[in-house]
Amino acid sequence: MTRNVLISGASISGPTLAYWLHRSGWAVTVVEKAGALRDGGYPIDIRGTAIEVVRRMGILPHLRDAHIDMRRCTFLDADGGEVASVSPHAVVGSVEGQDLEVRRGDLAAHLHAMVRDDVEFLFSDSIDTLDQSRQEVDVTFHSGHQRTFDLVVGADGMHSHTRASLFGPEEQFHRYLGYCFALFTMPNTFGLSHELMMWNTPGKAAALYAVGDNDEVHAFLNFHRPEPPSDALRDPKAQRDLVATTFAGAGWEVPHMVDAMYDADDLFFDTAGQIRMPHWSSGRVALVGDAAYAPSFLTGQGSSLALVGAYMLANALAANRDHTAAFAAYERDLRDFVAMNQALVDNGAATLFPTTVRALEQRNTMLRGLDTLPSAPPRPAHSALVLPEFAPMP
Ligand SMILES: Cc1cc2nc3c(=O)[nH]c(=O)nc-3n(C[C@H](O)[C@H](O)[C@H](O)COP(=O)(O)OP(=O)(O)OC[C@H]3O[C@@H](n4cnc5c(N)ncnc54)[C@H](O)[C@@H]3O)c2cc1C
Repeated sequence: MTRNVLISGASISGPTLAYWLHRSGWAVTVVEKAGALRDGGYPIDIRGTAIEVVRRMGILPHLRDAHIDMRRCTFLDADGGEVASVSPHAVVGSVEGQDLEVRRGDLAAHLHAMVRDDVEFLFSDSIDTLDQSRQEVDVTFHSGHQRTFDLVVGADGMHSHTRASLFGPEEQFHRYLGYCFALFTMPNTFGLSHELMMWNTPGKAAALYAVGDNDEVHAFLNFHRPEPPSDALRDPKAQRDLVATTFAGAGWEVPHMVDAMYDADDLFFDTAGQIRMPHWSSGRVALVGDAAYAPSFLTGQGSSLALVGAYMLANALAANRDHTAAFAAYERDLRDFVAMNQALVDNGAATLFPTTVRALEQRNTMLRGLDTLPSAPPRPAHSALVLPEFAPMP
């Protein structure tokens, strides 16, 4: 008999899992809170092992076409003077010609296109309650509909509702990394094209990223803060005011950016943090991607872990008819890879965002050195997992 699964979240890990589970004979439903596929355009990286996942899905050529050809990263001092201008690969340890950087919305659209004809999508809805008291999962949706599934998977991101309803509040699994950030788009009045400009003072960074020759740039304001600003996280006005106060008196284009932040209708404010959990499943419900093991944007590995994690979960379910054995295999085979990638950053110690005068000087010395070198070696963590062949249908 065909088994059915409900996946909550239609971004990166959700549709990837849907693709591989459909391939191994599952009937798949995906529920997404948003009214349509979210096309937010900030750039994300696909590297190492994750490249193999998208290759096996047949979308690597499309993603190569969508690759953002970022040509330069220019670092600026407090007054806007140039510190160094280097190749992006040299900074992040990605492999030129292999690893990819694409707009998040482009990746989500390609993944969705792979499954939309075979998988049921329920937009503008979400899971209200999960009841595992029988040999199945009884789901009540926010819309009031009730359905029953063999399994449920939460692919609903860093602030996962599935995780909260299964394991309790986020605080116990959230590891704050000492930074807050605001991300928004603003007019490209700077004439930037295919490049990133980053201004730093100790504990503060402002970046403008022109993904192509567009009329808009991605603006990014990041700052160090020992404790998370719990109140501001729930209040958009307080978020803007906190950013404005933090960057008051800053040089370069920062005052212009702060003004644009107040006008932006797409402001995304959050803390940089990771999700670390002792287990990624409970009964017939499992978590995948950021919901289970968000590594934070500081590693640039969130989308890669989401792709690889979804593949590994689907593979474990294809290889093990028993879901308990499958979930155990998923954790056993993925946990080291997750741990290595989460270990790429430590609290307040992100290479690109130094928090002290000394750390900033050291980073600038390193960047000036990179200017004369071809490229930094790729990070071993990016490729530390060799993907198993996809298990045949049981
Ligand atoms: C500013 C920023 C920069 C980043 N840069 C990079 C980068 O350079 N490289 C990189 O690899 N990663 C980066 N990331 C992280 C990357 O976007 C995530 O790690 C990755 O998208 C995780 O995918 P996911 O599908 O698991 O979760 P998400 O992409 O968070 O998707 C979760 C989905 O679930 C939906 N959802 C949420 N709640 C519910 C609910 N209750 N019911 C139903 N649906 C729900 C959401 O609408 C969303 O569609 C960045 C993130 C941010 C915020």
